[in-house]
Amino acid sequence: MPLPLPAVLVVSLLGLPDAATCLVQSYPEVLCGFEAPNSLVLCNGDRIPWDDGRSKTIDERFYEPDPEDMFVWPYPSASEWPPFPTTDPGRIRFERLFEAAYGDAPAKVTEHLVTVRWFGRNVRVSRRNGVARHLQAVATDLDRLPRRFRRYFTHTSGTYNWRTIKGSAVRSLHSYGIAIDVGIEFSNYWRWVPGATRDAAPPPYENRFPREVVEVFERHGFIWGGRWAHFDTMHFEYRPELLCARSPPR
Ligand SMILES: [Zn+2]
Repeated sequence: MPLPLPAVLVVSLLGLPDAATCLVQSYPEVLCGFEAPNSLVLCNGDRIPWDDGRSKTIDERFYEPDPEDMFVWPYPSASEWPPFPTTDPGRIRFERLFEAAYGDAPAKVTEHLVTVRWFGRNVRVSRRNGVARHLQAVATDLDRLPRRFRRYFTHTSGTYNWRTIKGSAVRSLHSYGIAIDVGIEFSNYWRWVPGATRDAAPPPYENRFPREVVEVFERHGFIWGGRWAHFDTMHFEYRPELLCARSPPR
């Protein structure tokens, strides 16, 4: 059951950017409202500027984002298939939000981890913010797909893992127990392409995952790394705010 929104929030959402509305609605356990003109209100009373007012390069958005920067690239609609990503929607993450939602250190994150049954295995993900419940719903729906799709998701190579993203100082969302890697033997990852580096343009896009599998994850709030120019097609992470923002509330 989603928590009822406080009255102050309902009032202050009027005139708010769609993306901020989506963000507040997607993290009801930590975000309790928006204070005009520019403050996200955390449920502990802290205020975070929605837009820090700086004009940034892509690298600066990646390493020093404000909450608004997470929405700079719209997540494409489900009907965009095959995907031809030229941007990285979701790869910019405002870390303080995820720390507040899921824990800011391994001991705190693991306190919230619970077991989800994943095709004969147990995986551990956060129960905060409904993540475990939504991942279980993904498993239930995947189980209903025709057999030919099963090879893409029955094997998982991991969920929780406190670490930085390979080749960067930015924390992976696996650190918060809200991401899962599946079907590694059918996966494509931009770093596996010979000669690919962060300083060059991303290599030509590659993907072998079928639309049917991706759609199940997206339906339950998980974005897909296959919609990134820096593709990582085994990777799904719980980012309901981005899926909300592609068809924002009115
Ligand atoms: Zn991953």
